[in-house]
Amino acid sequence: MTGPLTAEIELGREAVRAASRLCLAVAASGLDRMEKSEREPVTVADFGSQAVILRAIAAGFPDDAVRAEEGSVDLASAGTAAVDGVTNAVADALGASVTAGEAFAWIDHRGRPGSRMWAIDPIDGTKGFLRGDQFAVAAGLLDHGVPVLGILGCPRLELSGMHGVLVWGGPGIGAFVQSLGDGKVRRISVSGVSDPTRARILGSVESAHGDPELLHRVVEHIGIGGGWVRIDSQAKYAAVAAGMADIYLRPRNREDWRERVWDHAAGAAIVAGAGGTISDLDGRPLDFTTGDVLDLNRGVLVSNGGMHPTVLAALASIG
Ligand code: AMP
Ligand code: MG
Repeated sequence: MTGPLTAEIELGREAVRAASRLCLAVAASGLDRMEKSEREPVTVADFGSQAVILRAIAAGFPDDAVRAEEGSVDLASAGTAAVDGVTNAVADALGASVTAGEAFAWIDHRGRPGSRMWAIDPIDGTKGFLRGDQFAVAAGLLDHGVPVLGILGCPRLELSGMHGVLVWGGPGIGAFVQSLGDGKVRRISVSGVSDPTRARILGSVESAHGDPELLHRVVEHIGIGGGWVRIDSQAKYAAVAAGMADIYLRPRNREDWRERVWDHAAGAAIVAGAGGTISDLDGRPLDFTTGDVLDLNRGVLVSNGGMHPTVLAALASIG
């Protein structure tokens, strides 16, 4: 393959594929939920997935900066059984012997500050993962704050006739899907739907991650008639990129909530590559330059492009 970011795409696909398999293997062997700050759940698979991805980035692109959701402090405080669980899961995924010290160092790899930054969510939608529902392994690459490449592993998503998919893409790259088990690569693109009565809309399963009342009013106001699907994680971005749905609307549930960089960077690159549009609820571009969180944006709106003005107009008139 030739073209922009070929080496990054290859490395990212392999790392996200390996991390996705690790997550399924950990889930199959039984899951223990641990709590971290703000009472968000985390599992052995979250830490193991992050170790696998950051090991690959540290080896392949040591000069790139990294922002990632997990840190070894939370793993250390979870106790020895958790540390052993992560070390063993990573060793199994790599087919090599691994020490706890190596696993900790990979989890905490943050590279060097610079214009390029990877945004990693080792398990986006941990609540979905624990329920047996959707989750995504997410790796996004930002260049000067612009999402240029995204890779999503969605092990439980049905897309383009495949069960369990790897989806990747970016502006100038296009967007693609492949079975997580390998096989044929297919190009994907957003839908051409612009008639609200046919539009399909996506939202979070966790009502606390959004504003169900506002979503309901937008659906009524526009007359969205294609149905409403709730799925966890950035798998929603993959669904819009592949034309399975036309709108993903994510209002915040409280004034002071700020979206996290690793929850959107990968998905935003893929949807842009698939021909879609991404903004906040005021129509502003997402600003990925303000640290771990999107400090200057209110919510997120992702669409096939054609539906974007209609949804923004509805939001403006509802207030
Ligand atoms: P989703 O499955 O789309 O609801 O998104 C999962 C992500 O929601 C997690 O990775 C969290 O970072 C994020 N999250 C946690 N709490 C909130 C909240 N109060 N509002 C919005 N997102 C949240
Ligand atoms: Mg997340």
